[in-house]
Amino acid sequence: MNVIEDIQRMPKIELHLHLDGSTRKETIWELLNELGENPFSSYEELNNILSIDGKCESLKEYLEAFYFPVKVMQTKEVLTRVSEELAQDLAKEGVIYSEIRFAPYFHQQKGLSIEEVIEAVLKGLSKGERKYKVKSRLIICTMRGFPIEKNIDLVKRAAAFLNKGVVAIDLAGNEHDFPPEESKEVFKLAKSLGFHITVHAGETGKEENIEKAINILGAERIGHGVFAYKNPNILKLIKEKSVFLEMCPTSNLNTNAVKSLLEHPIKTYYDNGLKVTINTDNRTVSNVSLSSEINNIIDKLGFSIEDLERITHYAVEAAFCSSEDKEWLKNIVENYYNK
Ligand SMILES: [Zn+2]
Repeated sequence: MNVIEDIQRMPKIELHLHLDGSTRKETIWELLNELGENPFSSYEELNNILSIDGKCESLKEYLEAFYFPVKVMQTKEVLTRVSEELAQDLAKEGVIYSEIRFAPYFHQQKGLSIEEVIEAVLKGLSKGERKYKVKSRLIICTMRGFPIEKNIDLVKRAAAFLNKGVVAIDLAGNEHDFPPEESKEVFKLAKSLGFHITVHAGETGKEENIEKAINILGAERIGHGVFAYKNPNILKLIKEKSVFLEMCPTSNLNTNAVKSLLEHPIKTYYDNGLKVTINTDNRTVSNVSLSSEINNIIDKLGFSIEDLERITHYAVEAAFCSSEDKEWLKNIVENYYNK
């Protein structure tokens, strides 16, 4: 049995994936040249900046990896192109459904409106869906540290696309300095408009952010939640409320949230009945695919094929798509594992 080939064939679901951190390197190289703003003397040099190998030496190194993708993603054409390319990359490795997220703010340097930015990304994803048969939905990231009024305005604008491709609101950015409660009004509004809620929390050591994201912001899913183990009450809360954890092991290694993949808590959480899902966070920045992450948790953490079947069912349950789409996903997953 070839494990890698088996993983490639598995129907996979990706729920935590950032568009800007998953842009093809070749595309960024090409677009920097087109702009006449390519500061690199070789592709290799760009390559080294765009992907983190192991642990980041500094936050600067991690943030730099997003600088060039964001720099080129400033027109409708490029936003559509990179979204379609991402759909193609996902389809190639057997992803059948994905939820892609991004912060529209970062793509307004050349004057695009929030609506134009979201529309351009949705256009690329639906082209990808038609051509490559991978269904994708969009999650809009509000940002910590941005004025609350701005995040509220973003949610209101995103509401025009609700259930037309956009399914949820996320909270991303510096969780260390901006606690969840600051975004209470933003998420109250999002919930009242009918958005699903996922929140980046417990990624950088502040486990209390997980509890606040669930109790104050109404999070149905937690992005990362690595540090939940620091407080048994938080583990209990996650379990009782049946909150799903979107875990991204290699990304957590890159940002020093875990010392090594062997120490990642995903297996302990899974064994204790928490509903974990496996995701990449940033395909390009972390230099991973969903298949390589699955291979990692089999190889380094002892997940079995039966475990992966269960995790994939958790992902179906956790998905923010319609009930018809969930039924469709469930059938594909069941058919595959019944064989
Ligand atoms: Zn993330």
